[in-house]
Amino acid sequence: MTTSPTDLSGAVLPVRPYPGQAALARLVIPPSGSTRTYHDGLAAGRLMLQRCSACGRCRVPMAPVCPYCDGEAADWIAASGRGQVVSFVRYARAHLPEFEAIVPYTVLCVQLAEGPRMFGRLAGSDTAWIGQGVAVIIEQWVDGGRAPAFVSSGGAG
Ligand SMILES: [Zn+2]
Repeated sequence: MTTSPTDLSGAVLPVRPYPGQAALARLVIPPSGSTRTYHDGLAAGRLMLQRCSACGRCRVPMAPVCPYCDGEAADWIAASGRGQVVSFVRYARAHLPEFEAIVPYTVLCVQLAEGPRMFGRLAGSDTAWIGQGVAVIIEQWVDGGRAPAFVSSGGAG
């Protein structure tokens, strides 16, 4: 995979504390050469998306080859932070002890404005629906880790 310079013209996203007090960093694959841009983006308040240099489509998750055209060259763009709910599930119990403090909680599948779909927790609300407009935020864990999450942006996306 070849990567070219990163476009940071996208949104700087709000950073909020994760509501639970659990240390969550152990749940994340440590940054490596191919994922460092994503993690550096979260640290800087941005959701970075890998974009194929050949066809221009963004992809989630990160991959060494484009799933649409097999292109190996890619760059990174900062996401706008806008999206629309495609599906969701509400967890009534925690499957890991780190999430017990926030049960019940909702996990969304969101189609980002840039095209790819990704999963994330719905923050600050218990209400989700298909077609709901959402905005990306970044949650800060007590151990310093960060992850993208979503908040309702009101109305349809
Ligand atoms: Zn491609």
